Amino acid sequence: MSDGQLTTHDVAELSRLLTAGDVSAVDVTRAHLDRIGAEDGELGSYLHVDPDAALASAAAVDEARSGGAELGPLAGVPVALKDLVVTEGVPTTSGSKILEGWRPPYSATIACRLADAGTVLLGKTNMDEFAMGSSTENSAYQVTRNPWDPSRIPGGSSGGSSAAVAGHLAPWAIGTDTGGSIRQPAAVTGLVGHKPTYGAVSRYGLIAFSSSLDQAGPMARTVLDAALMHEVIAGYDPRDSTSIDAPVPPLAAAARAGAEGDLRGVKVGVVRELGGEGHTDGYEPGVLARTREAIERLAALGADVVEVSCPSFDLALPAYYLIAPSEASSNLARYEGMRFGLRAGDDGSRDLDEVMALTREQGFGPEVKRRIILGTYALSSGYYEAYYGQAQKVRTLITRDFTAAFDRVDVLVSPTTPSVAFPLGARVDDPLAMYAADLCTLPASLAGLPAISVPSGLSEGLPVGLQIMAPALSDDRCYRVAAALEAAQDAARGHRLLDELPTAAGVRA
Ligand code: GLN
Repeated sequence: MSDGQLTTHDVAELSRLLTAGDVSAVDVTRAHLDRIGAEDGELGSYLHVDPDAALASAAAVDEARSGGAELGPLAGVPVALKDLVVTEGVPTTSGSKILEGWRPPYSATIACRLADAGTVLLGKTNMDEFAMGSSTENSAYQVTRNPWDPSRIPGGSSGGSSAAVAGHLAPWAIGTDTGGSIRQPAAVTGLVGHKPTYGAVSRYGLIAFSSSLDQAGPMARTVLDAALMHEVIAGYDPRDSTSIDAPVPPLAAAARAGAEGDLRGVKVGVVRELGGEGHTDGYEPGVLARTREAIERLAALGADVVEVSCPSFDLALPAYYLIAPSEASSNLARYEGMRFGLRAGDDGSRDLDEVMALTREQGFGPEVKRRIILGTYALSSGYYEAYYGQAQKVRTLITRDFTAAFDRVDVLVSPTTPSVAFPLGARVDDPLAMYAADLCTLPASLAGLPAISVPSGLSEGLPVGLQIMAPALSDDRCYRVAAALEAAQDAARGHRLLDELPTAAGVRA
């Protein structure tokens, strides 16, 4: 088997080949490293790759396997981590200059769980600075391109992860989602991305942006792969005080059951406020058309489809852009140039306050500064009730809308994001246009609910995603419905959507 082929397999296939002994972990890892070497100059998806370390951990898996050790089914499968997942001894920047050079003294729980499952760390992926953004253009380090069209954004803030997986530079990757940063990059690169129920996946060792919203989750090329990764990282962690001590529902089983294609008895609610009648402003016609077709397909599989109204969702965007910056302004106060990464102007001529100010001035980019200022203002004593307090009330209303909707239906659906991947540079000078990419993903974030993005086809040659939302701790419903849609679409098409990735982009195997 040629190395090129190894990077085209999904994780379920790689796992079969590795377990059967048909390929070695070193073969699989080397194939991905070769592809990174050949393609990532253009794509820019990784911030840090250590080929020797990756090959050494792959060799350790092969050795254990040939020595007869009982290894898990994912042992030897390579993985990429968004660069806000803290990794012991491995550079971790959160896309910011202020953390340049920092090598953490410990690893995040999810990094440990992936390592314990025998997966091989390929590298750390590019991202918007501190996960603030929707295009990865806020990275302090480099531009990341969309494998479908290198002149376009890969989504954000987990755009390095989406570009790496869609471009076959990693079979799957970890992303994080505060307001949409797993789902939106997955949607615009033709991937599956799932934001788990808040508290279902440990946040221990994830560099915090907005702690009441942040969740890590899988980005993969198939629904089943996403479920397999989710099962590895999920579950109670005493080191995260918001971690939920509840059993993880059987997610891979839900994905496999969904792929059988029978949705009889499943009630699907289409959210009017997210691209429905009277709410189509800012939505591209191609996105709405693919969404309609996906919903028709769910109905054809037996689902009972109804329209649902969630009036408070119209307020999700302003509420999020008060709550997230407020929490960020508090979380980012720890970067003062003393404990981690960058320290500027410490030449003996300045006092402590001046060194802190200069470090922050040089270490934070413009979007991060904008959010710190906005968040500090929203939390200040004279304005707290008017801004932060109001936003929290909206959050409650949104949760109530979800509760009422889930009294009637099992899952809710909408487009994942109102547009396909936009051109690089198109929105960098217009923060509100950038924030509009989050329109559909914010409600589930604010309510802490699970939501998946699954490809629903192409519009003008670029991927569109369907979002499927479910009640808390019912992540399995997202996987079941997504897998049914994926299977039906693949069957209708005769191949997978990602097989249409244009060779012209120069990144297809
Ligand atoms: N685009 C949103 C923001 O800029 C969401 C980011 C995220 O989910 N990390 O805040």
